[in-house]
Amino acid sequence: MATAYLLVGSNLGNRTQHLQQAQQFLRQAIGNILQGSSVYETAAWGVAAQPAYLNQVLVVETALPPFELLEKTQEIEKQLGRIRSFRWAARTIDIDILFYDQLIISTQELTIPHSRILERKFVLQPLTEIAPDMLHPVWQRSIKNLLDSCEDNSVVEIFGKYFATDNKI
Ligand code: ADP
Ligand code: MG
Repeated sequence: MATAYLLVGSNLGNRTQHLQQAQQFLRQAIGNILQGSSVYETAAWGVAAQPAYLNQVLVVETALPPFELLEKTQEIEKQLGRIRSFRWAARTIDIDILFYDQLIISTQELTIPHSRILERKFVLQPLTEIAPDMLHPVWQRSIKNLLDSCEDNSVVEIFGKYFATDNKI
């Protein structure tokens, strides 16, 4: 079993419902959700004048190898009705693979760790909530340390908790 860190995001329609639906699909297609951050709200990045994003980091336990994991997350994006019109267009749901154990992959189709973690506060902030001491396998720096030196000055605020783990205590 591998542990994957996913970033789920939505900035279109009923955003919290999309995040919840994504969790259901992920459980069915990928594996147990071990942990989740709060849901954070951030002004859209890249193209101004779009609805604000909701983002959440989910920690998923999976038997799928990395490229199959990507395939499944892309299927879920499609099922949840994402229409890709232009880069950074508003989207029902976006699922990015941030980490897969301590694996490093660098292809155009799939780059792990995700190539833009360091420059995005909406990734580092929820990650810091659940895994502040985890080391980035490429940079060998903790998530907390990466957040401290991140130059993204957008406002990332806690929006709410929409999360239940599959871990039975
Ligand atoms: P972004 O998430 O950067 O806003 P997209 O969701 O449209 O953009 O993703 C574009 C492409 O990025 C996907 O088709 C996928 O093949 C590729 N990709 C590369 N690495 C990853 C990753 N770690 N997680 C998700 N997609 C990735
Ligand atoms: Mg994506």
